[in-house]
Order: sequence, then structure tokens, then C-alpha cells
Amino acid sequence: MKAVKNVLIVGGGTAGWLTACFMAKHLSSTREREGIQIRLVESKDIGIIGVGEGSFPSIRGTLAAIGVDEARFIKECHGTFKQGIRFDHWVRPAGSPGADHYFHPFSHPSQRGPELLPYWLKGLAARDGQQPAFADAVTMQKCIADASRGPKRFADKDFLGPMNYAYHFDAGRLAALLSEHGQSLGVNRILGTVEHVQLDDQGAIAAVHTQDGQVLAADLFIDCTGFSAGLIGKTLGSPFKSLNDVLFVDRALALQVPYAKPDAPIPSYTISSAQEAGWIWDIGLQERRGTGYVFSSRHTDEARAEQVLRNYIGPAADGMTPRLLKLNVGYRETQWIKNCVAIGLSGGFIEPLESSGIGLIETAAYLLTYLFPFNGEFDAVATQFNQHMKARYERVVDFVKMHFSLSQRTDSAFWRDNRDVASIPESLQEKLKMWSCRPPHRMDFIADLEMYPPSSWQFVLYGMEFQTDMANNKFVYPQDQEATQEFQMIAQMAQRALADLPDHRKLVEHLCRAA
Ligand code: FAD
Repeated sequence: MKAVKNVLIVGGGTAGWLTACFMAKHLSSTREREGIQIRLVESKDIGIIGVGEGSFPSIRGTLAAIGVDEARFIKECHGTFKQGIRFDHWVRPAGSPGADHYFHPFSHPSQRGPELLPYWLKGLAARDGQQPAFADAVTMQKCIADASRGPKRFADKDFLGPMNYAYHFDAGRLAALLSEHGQSLGVNRILGTVEHVQLDDQGAIAAVHTQDGQVLAADLFIDCTGFSAGLIGKTLGSPFKSLNDVLFVDRALALQVPYAKPDAPIPSYTISSAQEAGWIWDIGLQERRGTGYVFSSRHTDEARAEQVLRNYIGPAADGMTPRLLKLNVGYRETQWIKNCVAIGLSGGFIEPLESSGIGLIETAAYLLTYLFPFNGEFDAVATQFNQHMKARYERVVDFVKMHFSLSQRTDSAFWRDNRDVASIPESLQEKLKMWSCRPPHRMDFIADLEMYPPSSWQFVLYGMEFQTDMANNKFVYPQDQEATQEFQMIAQMAQRALADLPDHRKLVEHLCRAA
């Protein structure tokens, strides 16, 4: 067994550079002593995917861990705050009677009193005889986001604020920032397009060869080559588990459009608007919106999809041509083979809904650093890594599929097919069966294997108007008075928060000045 002294990351997108920064930062105390060298090779001819503008709150911990402060991130990546996701027309098509949207906030339900969900289900959150939506009843975040307020005050510290939040950002700028930061942490950047991967006599990777004749040998290789999966897939043959029969979208048409006015309000949430054969994302950055229609090519064609996107955007899209992307939705159950680990799109991709892409990169980079095989013993850590990542992917799939499977839409084959039981993983069916007669509980989840906390499941479940029958278990929840008081308190505090929190655009401008 040979000690690991030399790491080569192949690919310089978000996955490559985030992993590089994470490893450089966390192995830095031992890097000199052990002499571990981290290099990253990227191709100037093969671009990065360049989409992926939404994140999950875990990104704040990651940026703090690698040493990038918030103001710099916001300024250099043209970032804005993301307090959650607004789902438009997911339950029923536009124009139908009933709620036309729901909110998935990132703040957890208030935890001052009893757990509020069962009491909301008992109807105790009613105001003026009207039952508010679950997200409205248990946090003040929707009220704050609806009023165009940011999640924190000017004076709140780096990455901290009264509301939980993530960011929207320009994906190209993020890769550039991470590249600069990684190099400042000592990562050695090499330009080159890998055209050949050389194996040793054990079938492990010995070196990669670039088109311009460089031979880059290493002890550990990280495959961050995106969908092409040059090392883990093409060379080592790790099978790709397609999810086409569960998650139907396989194409995206992406278009960046300007705001109507430079000082237009910036929504501090992603808008996800359900359409006849998929959904449109709408993300507000500082100077433009990022939009895109993610659709199923089995349920529509590109010309119709473009029309749907144009109808959504309106005149701002005139004269602009959307970029078509083909998506491989699925993942590799084995993401670490011998001395090669896949991180990012090379390992898998569960469609953009709920921004799992970067979250899964963060987990993989963290796991790799934690499990780092200093002594060259790969087998045990590979098993651990593979089991953990597979379990995480399975749970993300359930969470994302839940959005589609609970829709009441029957207006197109896409939505009807999504409710077909054959397309719903058994693990999700079991969860839904349990929750039809009792509310979800945190014990239903193994926290270390979940990307999404129990509250996210609850916000989506009840946002999608899932029904839980409380007839036989109401008596288990006797704290009606405390819960009612807490619902009232949340509504009052929301009004105070509106006075306290700044306008979202002004908060962003403040941070840009502070950077
Ligand atoms: P890429 O960005 O494709 O980078 C691959 C790198 O490998 C490039 O640097 C390339 O030059 C290099 N490379 C490839 N082949 C070679 C070679 N032979 N030699 C040398 N270098 C090579 N994620 C989220 O978290 N939130 C979102 O909102 C979100 N939205 C998305 C929307 C769409 C439509 C898509 C497709 C994805 C979205 N994702 C999102 C996923 C996210 O974009 C990716 O997870 C993230 O960008 C990481 O990509 P990557 O670094 O793995 O691959």
C-alpha cells in the first residue's frame, strides 16, 4: 500500500473547484507535513455546464469552511439571497379554483412550543376563520419574502441572520471565484484536455494524458468532468442508473433575460412554475434573471418547449435564443472505484428541482476529506463513501419525485404519468402511506443521510395539499392552547420583522459595497 501524496482533480467546474478548495483547506494542516499535493486539470476547450444558479442553505457552511466570506461571494458571483422556493401551479393548472402557489421556506417551523404540524392539521392555526397554508402558519419567512425583504439585517454577521437562507448566483462567476480561491489555498491549476486515461496492472488509474502531451500521474484521482464522466464512467465502467422512469425531465432550455428596470425588486426565492411537460425556473440575480424550462422530451418537443418558455417570459425574451441542454438524470451507485472518486455531474444528477446538485457536491467533498485515505487503503473507505452517497441519492430522488407525484393536475400526459404508481419508488410510496394517517416525524428520517431536513418534507407535502387523517390520533397532541398561542405569536412577529428587515435589493447592494 502506498501513502497518498498526490491528488489530481480532473475538471474545473463547480464540482472540481469546490472539492479542490475543501480538500486544500482541510488537509492544509497536514499538507506540508505529509507532502500532499493537490492539482486540478481543466480544459479550456470544454466549457463548464454553466447553469445551476440556485443553492440550498448548506452552501453557507461550505463557504465558511473554505474561507470565502459572504460579501465577497455576493459581489463576485452577482449573488442574491434565496429564502426558499415558490411553486406556482404545481397542485393545479393556472386558472383553476384553489391556491395557485405554495412556498417551501428554508426556515424551520417555530420550535418554541410543541411541534406545530399536528396542530396545524387539527385546524388550530385558523385566522379570521381561514386556515393559512402550512408555511404561512409556522414561520414568518413567506411573509418576509413576499414583501421583498431580505433574510437578515445590514448588521447581521457573515452567514447569520434571523431567517435561514441560501443564495442565487451566476454559475460561471462562482467557478471563477472558487478557482481563484483554490489557487490561493495552494491548489496547482493545470490547463489541458484529457484524451487518454492510463491504468496500472491492478486496474487502478496510473495517469491521465492530455492532448498536448502532458502525463499527469497521481495516487488519487477525482473525476469532476461533468456529464462526460471520463474517468469513473468511460474508463472504469461504473454503471449509470438512469431515473428516466421516475423523473421524466431530460432536457432544459435556458435563457438569461434582463430586468424591465435596473432597480426592479429582486425576489428572494426561486420561482418554479409548473408547465404542461415540466417546469420553469426563474431566478433573480443582481442584474438579470436566469430562466429555463426543464421538460420531458417524451411529452413535448423542443419547438413547443421554446414557445412555452417564451410565453412565460414575455417580450424580454424577444430576439434571444435559449440554450438547449440534454440532461442525464440518474446516478452511479458506485462513485468510488479503486483510486478514483466521482464528484458532481460525473457521479449523478437528480434534475434541478430543489437544487440538489451543489448540495450533493458539498456532501461528497466533505465525506472525501473526512475519509481521506492517507495510507492508500482505498477499499474500506470506498465502500463507506459509496453506501453513503447511494443512500443520499435515494432520499433526494424520493423528495423530488414527491413534488410530481402529489400533483392533482390531469391536464397533460406528463402530469398524469407522474402519478402512475409504477413511476413512484416503493420507498416513497411507503412514506406517503405512513403519513396518510399520521404526520411525518423527525424519527422517520436518518439525519446524516438526508439532504433535506424533515421541515422541507413537511412544507412540500402540505404545500402539495397532501391529506393526513387525524381522526384516530388527535388525542396524542393535547397542547392545543400552547400551539394556538404560538400560531398567533408567529403572525404578530412577522409584522415586526417586516419593519426590521431591509429591502432585498438594498441588502445585496450593501454587501457589495462592504466587500
Ligand atoms: P461541469 O460544470 O460540466 O464541469 C466539468 C469540467 O470538466 C469542466 O471544467 C470541463 O472543462 C472539464 N472537463 C470535461 N472533460 C474534460 C477533459 N477531457 N479534460 C479536461 N477537463 C475536462 N445544481 C444546483 O445545485 N442548483 C441548481 O439550481 C441547478 N440547476 C441546474 C440546472 C440545469 C439545467 C442543469 C443541467 C444542472 C443544474 N444543477 C444545479 C447542477 C449543477 O449545474 C452541477 O451540479 C454543477 O454545476 C457541477 O457541475 P460539474 O462541475 O460536475 O460539471
